[in-house]
Amino acid sequence: MKKLQMVDLKGQYDKIKQTVDASIQEVLDTTTYINGPEVHKFQKNLEEYLGVKHVIPCANGTDALQIAMMGLGLEPGDEVITADFTFAATVEVIALLQLTPVLVDVEPDSFNISVEAIRNAITPKTKAIVPVHLFGQTADMEAIMALAEEHNLYVIEDNAQAIGAEYTYADGTKKKAGTIGHVASTSFFPSKNLGCYGDGGAIFTNDDELAHKLRGIVNHGMYERYHHDVVGVNSRLDSVQAAVLNAKLPHLDDYNKARRAAADKYSKAFAGHADIITPVIKGDDESHVFHQYTLRILNADRNALMKHLLDKGIPCAIYYPIPLHSQKAYASGRYNEDDFTVTNQLVKEVISLPMHTELDDEQIAFITQAILDFLSI
Ligand SMILES: *Cc1c(COP(=O)(O)O)cnc(C)c1O
Repeated sequence: MKKLQMVDLKGQYDKIKQTVDASIQEVLDTTTYINGPEVHKFQKNLEEYLGVKHVIPCANGTDALQIAMMGLGLEPGDEVITADFTFAATVEVIALLQLTPVLVDVEPDSFNISVEAIRNAITPKTKAIVPVHLFGQTADMEAIMALAEEHNLYVIEDNAQAIGAEYTYADGTKKKAGTIGHVASTSFFPSKNLGCYGDGGAIFTNDDELAHKLRGIVNHGMYERYHHDVVGVNSRLDSVQAAVLNAKLPHLDDYNKARRAAADKYSKAFAGHADIITPVIKGDDESHVFHQYTLRILNADRNALMKHLLDKGIPCAIYYPIPLHSQKAYASGRYNEDDFTVTNQLVKEVISLPMHTELDDEQIAFITQAILDFLSI
């Protein structure tokens, strides 16, 4: 059996080595390391893939979120609602910009932000909502957009984990995750569904005026060379990373399909087990691109399970072990533990299994059997 890994970047690279190498070589030959033609080409390729008017490449997914918030003109003290159960980058940039993060609970089945919890957290100071499409599943965007419209709020999609996911509205309209809110961010961190070979990120929007603003912010607030109209940052996607992404983007749908197929095999193996809750896909199959495959394990010692798996050479991880509202940096007197019953429960139960584009049946059978064996002891 091939060695088990959370993510098999080498196996994936080997299959497209020629195109990736040629694409990188072109950058080396032309030495256009910064803002080379590959970056512009990737921007156009991704705009076309997503069906969005503007893609603004930048240095990483955390910058993308920060720049999106800067572009919207949010001001210190403005409240921004986001999920308690997510990676810290989301809340970090809110705090960094001196906006007030307002963490709310998530849904127990999708792990995504609860629309009811958002509604309850809205105050006159609320200016924006940041839904995170966690583990690759699109949040309930139709309800979130309706709520945002009702209260005149911006919606910033954190799409770092769900690039390529397709959300279906009640009337059958389909849109790609990251093209529904006013603006969205994504990450091309190597292990993400569309990963480069270093750091990378992008912001998406259909709003021409906002796109113009964002293009200046990523480049030191410059709209005309050496004229700094707004305070900006330096956040660039470099040409080598863009070259990698140009080679990989044509495979993204196949990659996501492979992830869904692996998830389906895992879930079939666990089906009906009383102590395992497999991931729930709330919309169409295409609404979930399985950045992670995350189980909830009931009535068992999760640490002992992890040890059992690691002893067998099966990597696994806890995304995420501590709710953000309990983190020292983000604790606040405004929170009440009763408001986070779902997140507080999930952090004790979740376990993520190896998930990538190269998982084979033998590996999946080995992993699932090891878990079933442990739970039957
Ligand atoms: C990975 C990730 C980010 C940050 O992306 P980086 O490129 O690592 O800065 C932000 N939000 C979520 C939900 C992520 O998973």
